[in-house]
Amino acid sequence: MEIFHKRTWAEIDLDAAERNLNILKGFIDKEKTRPCCVLKAFGYGHGDTVLMKLYQSLGVDFFAVSNIDEAIGLRKNGCTGDILILGYTDDAYAAELAEYDIIQAAVSAEYARELSAAAEKPVRVHIKLDTGMGRIGLIAKDREKCLEEIAQIKKLPKLVPEGIFTHFAVADSLEEESCSYTDMQKDLFFSIAEEAGGFKEVHCLNSAGAELHYDSRSTLARFGILLYGLNPDTSLEMPKGIEPVMEVKTVIGYIKELHKGDCVSYGRTFTAQRDMRAATLPIGYADGYPRLLSNRGEVIICGKRAKILGRVCMDQMIVDITDIPEAKIGTEVTVFGRGEITADDIAALCGSIGYEIICAVSPRVPRVYLKNGKIVDVVNIL
Ligand SMILES: *Cc1c(COP(=O)(O)O)cnc(C)c1O
Repeated sequence: MEIFHKRTWAEIDLDAAERNLNILKGFIDKEKTRPCCVLKAFGYGHGDTVLMKLYQSLGVDFFAVSNIDEAIGLRKNGCTGDILILGYTDDAYAAELAEYDIIQAAVSAEYARELSAAAEKPVRVHIKLDTGMGRIGLIAKDREKCLEEIAQIKKLPKLVPEGIFTHFAVADSLEEESCSYTDMQKDLFFSIAEEAGGFKEVHCLNSAGAELHYDSRSTLARFGILLYGLNPDTSLEMPKGIEPVMEVKTVIGYIKELHKGDCVSYGRTFTAQRDMRAATLPIGYADGYPRLLSNRGEVIICGKRAKILGRVCMDQMIVDITDIPEAKIGTEVTVFGRGEITADDIAALCGSIGYEIICAVSPRVPRVYLKNGKIVDVVNIL
């Protein structure tokens, strides 16, 4: 096992990840739909290899990633299941797709033709339909053209079209208009998939889709954010039992008294109005902590909230520990995670979503994996 030096680190609770997966399995009919664990973006910042191994040990045999590097990484690290690249891959890499037995999204008829032309060995593909997300895929609204393009892709000599899929734009909303939009996307998708026919995998569900708009015609549920224990949309209630998997921690590195009039950090945006006690933490925006939370964010020290004073720097930030007398040099600090301050809370303060906060935890933060509260693995990316 790699070592890690206590400075700033991310604890990944593998028991929580397993519990989340089990709850998500409860959303789907296991006779009709299998879980596909989405491990793009380094497993939403949690580390894709260790999670892949966990899910694989729990029977998951389908994974999705965003690009060929992520896909090859999983394969080289022992992934025996199917790996689907959801987005762009240059057709020049057809040989690698075949070599590593990776499934590529066929995002347009033109791309499919080029991929087939570039391939020597057969490349497995899932045809992507754009049913209303407006990002990538064959335009499904143009029904006849879409069916014609699917037929053309099926005839390409070097492609193996095993699946067809689409992605929802507003599955995380229960507004009436959003629900009917999702229904429209689903109807369009399944009617085209059924008319085209012959696909082993036909899938449309993301986390929120599986939770709120489950459809047993989807052979896979592409679980992402809820696996990691964050909410697809914070205006929704979190499904019962789902819990964050990642906790970012740091330690107190330095303590000082501030006197009335003393200022703190770049730009002198905080000035003490009274005597205070302040702690400097070795974490900053280079670790992925948002600088937007200067003078706004809070961390947890000894079970209490400590406010950020002044600007978040690249590698350090300063917090108010006036009311936490037990805080000492070396005391552990929870920056966000599984308790009172979650990544969703941080995101709300930044006007963003939890997805962005966990993906932003930077490569210099070691990932420390826990089982039964004990460290079972460490990944140092840098
Ligand atoms: C990211 C992604 C998912 C997973 O979405 P979550 O909201 O995280 O569950 C599923 N499908 C596609 C195409 C995606 O890009």
